[in-house]
Amino acid sequence: MGRIIMSMYNLDLKKVIKQIRDMDAKLVGLQFPDGLKIQASKVAQQIESETGATAIISADPCFGACDLSDRKMTNSVDILIHYGHTALPIAYHVPVMFIEAYSQVEVNESLQKSLELLKKYHKIALATTTQHLHLLDEIKQFLEDNGKKVVVESGNSTRTGQVLGCNFSSIKNLDAEAYLYLGSGNFHPLGIKLFTHLPVVIADPYRGEARNIDKFADRILRIRFARITKSREAKKWGILISSKEGQYRMDLARKIKQNLEKEGKKAFLIMMDNISPDLLLPFMELEAFVVTACPRIAIDDSQIYKKPLLTPQELEIVMDKRKWEDYQLDEIFFGDTY
Ligand code: SF4
Repeated sequence: MGRIIMSMYNLDLKKVIKQIRDMDAKLVGLQFPDGLKIQASKVAQQIESETGATAIISADPCFGACDLSDRKMTNSVDILIHYGHTALPIAYHVPVMFIEAYSQVEVNESLQKSLELLKKYHKIALATTTQHLHLLDEIKQFLEDNGKKVVVESGNSTRTGQVLGCNFSSIKNLDAEAYLYLGSGNFHPLGIKLFTHLPVVIADPYRGEARNIDKFADRILRIRFARITKSREAKKWGILISSKEGQYRMDLARKIKQNLEKEGKKAFLIMMDNISPDLLLPFMELEAFVVTACPRIAIDDSQIYKKPLLTPQELEIVMDKRKWEDYQLDEIFFGDTY
C-alpha cells in the first residue's frame, strides 16, 4: 500500500460505538480489508472498553463487498462491522454495519498534476473508489473551476462516481472525452480504459502524482494475449468456483464446462473459498484454468500461477466466440451469483 498510513482512514468509531450501545450488542464481529487489518486490535480494544461488548475479528482475507464474513459469523455475533466497502443489495445473515473508511489523504497535489494530462479534453468523467467518495463534489468543483465540464453517474448497486470492486457500471456510456480516476492502484483505471477506450488519467493522492493508464494497459494486454494463446493448446481444463457468496457463479461454471466438453475438451469443476496457487498444486495435470470467481485473480495475480488462468471472457476468445479486439474485463454483479 505504499505511503498509506492507517490514520489516514476515518474508522468512524463514534458511530460504531453508538450503534453497538443502541442495539445493546454483546458480541461484535469486525471485518477489515487486508490493508486496514493492522487497526483491528485497536478498534476491538476501544469497542470493548467503551461498550462492554466482546469483539471477534475476522482474520480471513477480505478483498471486497463480495466477501463478507456474515455467513461464517452467524450464531457468533449480534452485529458485524464491515470496513472499507459499501453494501450490496442482498439479505445478510447477520445485521451488518458498513463503514466506508474514508481516506483523509491530501488530494490537491495529484489533482493539480492531472490537469496537465487532461488539458486536451473538455468533458471529463469522474470515477473513484469508496474511500474517496466524500470528495466527489470537491473534485467536480475543482475541475469546473479549471474550465472543464464534469460528467458523473451512479451505476448498478453503486453510488455516484463509484467503481465498486469489479462493478464498472457507473462509468459506461458516459458522454465524456476522458476519465479522471482518483485513487491508488491500476485495476480500476484499467477497467475504465478497457470498457470505454477513452483516455484515463489517474490522480494518485498516495504518491502525489498523476499518470496515464496506457502503458500499464498495454503491458497487461500483452500478458493476457500470451495467456490466451498458450491456452489454445489446452485439452484439460479446470473451472474454478469460489464458495464466497458474492463470487459464487455455479451456473456460469457449469455452462463453461458444457461448452468446453462440446469442443471435445475435458473440464472439471473445482470449488474453494480463497483461490491460491498452493490449492491448485494437486491439479497440475490440468493445462489451463478458467476463474469464475474474482476477476482480479486472473488479471492481478497471473504471474504467481504456473498454468494460465483465464477469465470467462478470455475463454470466449480461445473458443473463437469473441474477437481479441472486443477484449473486456470480467464483472460480477449481484444477480450474476447463485
Ligand atoms: S469479485 Fe469483484 S468486488 Fe469482489 S474482490 Fe473481486 S474485484 Fe472486488
